[in-house]
Amino acid sequence: MKKNDTITLKIEDIGINGEGIGKFEGFTFFVKDAVVGDVIEGKIMKMKKNYGYARLMQVLSPSPARGTPRCAYARQCGGCQLQAMDYEAQLAFKAKKIQDHLVRIGGFSHMERPQILGMDEPWRYRNKAQFPVGTDGDGRIVAGFYAVHSHRIIPCEECWLGVEENKTILYKIRKHMEKHGITAYNETTGRGLVRHVLIRKGFVTGELMVCLVLNGRKFAAVEELAESLRGISGMTSILISVNRENTNVILGRELIPVWGQTYITDQIGDITYRISPLSFYQVNPVQTRKLYEKALEYADLKGEETVWDLYCGIGTISLFLARKAGQVYGVEIVPEAVEDAQKNAQINGIENARFFAGKAEEVLPRLYEEEGIRADVIVVDPPRKGCDPAALQTMVKMRPERIVYISCDSATLARDLKYLCGEGYEVMGVTGCDMFPWTVHVETVALLTRKAP
Ligand code: SAH
Repeated sequence: MKKNDTITLKIEDIGINGEGIGKFEGFTFFVKDAVVGDVIEGKIMKMKKNYGYARLMQVLSPSPARGTPRCAYARQCGGCQLQAMDYEAQLAFKAKKIQDHLVRIGGFSHMERPQILGMDEPWRYRNKAQFPVGTDGDGRIVAGFYAVHSHRIIPCEECWLGVEENKTILYKIRKHMEKHGITAYNETTGRGLVRHVLIRKGFVTGELMVCLVLNGRKFAAVEELAESLRGISGMTSILISVNRENTNVILGRELIPVWGQTYITDQIGDITYRISPLSFYQVNPVQTRKLYEKALEYADLKGEETVWDLYCGIGTISLFLARKAGQVYGVEIVPEAVEDAQKNAQINGIENARFFAGKAEEVLPRLYEEEGIRADVIVVDPPRKGCDPAALQTMVKMRPERIVYISCDSATLARDLKYLCGEGYEVMGVTGCDMFPWTVHVETVALLTRKAP
């Protein structure tokens, strides 16, 4: 067997990144876009010692779980890995992924497959989109998305995960750039002006924000563009973000207001949130509400508790819990997000929430040593790499009755739960929440309670 050979495979399993897995003459092959139950014809792209990668050439016999991708770019784009799989099958895959991580990495051998909170209508769920802007081979301005594992821009202004306004906004910006000879940024040379367009929408309020990410500060006839964008219903905020660095980080630190507010507002449940461009805000508000309600149920608040919310962003969970708790404290590393959190407490008339800017692994130990802070419940919602050991150690020292762990990576969740269970806690519940339909990603919320001494 060698590169470019054609093989026939029955797909029997699914990998952690959503790829189909089949066996041929004792070798395991990974095939992107193949679904468990398919019989496919594949072309070998790469051979290793006892496994290989094949490209899906033809589906000879489709799996019952195979669906027709809605998006014409599904296979080229790095965004949706599971568009060939029907929605129920995706949910089952995600439940199994969480279970596998908890068993393999966490050592929870009796862990059952968790319940997954799915979406009724799993399209157009993203409230945020970041489109890279570039120039094609013919010198035309293009906006779209990066092809898998590359920074080649595939022109596409219509993404089925994003809001319908994205298309109109990108069209207006592209036409404006053509009219005024405004250049797109080139990553290789570091020249050119427009790098990205960031669009955010408040799903409940309908408010829209457009942020032009520029390799510079000046944008020709910006008033004219603003005037045109204001014609789109819901537009409340137009900004420039200055990013002159040679980096993959999309937004720069300097923001220049062009028109309207410098933030948008949105609501989850009965709480109103104000969101700045630099602040993290969950991208799927419909599912976020379900996730937070599960977190609230796990927190089991009676009204007097002291709650810590680590990695709190703009205070979304903190404020969601504040009305049911005695006192809530949030910790967040991005100073702009902490300002948003403070403002958000004010807007909602919530007086029992306080926020600290800094790293959870530094702020929490310091406050514990210096002020002897305590907690009845600790909620954590860290980025993919999970909690820092110093944060986990202090959490254990604080001896909260309950820990509610929200995670966007079940592998690091499993690692951290293993640690906490070695330090006197036990896992009492695990629920998955499908925040990102058609992708391999899944959010998990777990409840730990302190074992009686
Ligand atoms: N709980 C919030 C945000 C979760 S995302 C919500 O549901 O909206 C994770 C957050 O952790 C981000 O806001 C990120 O800025 C923040 N963060 C990342 N590393 C951190 C650290 N070491 N200490 C504190 N916050 C951190």
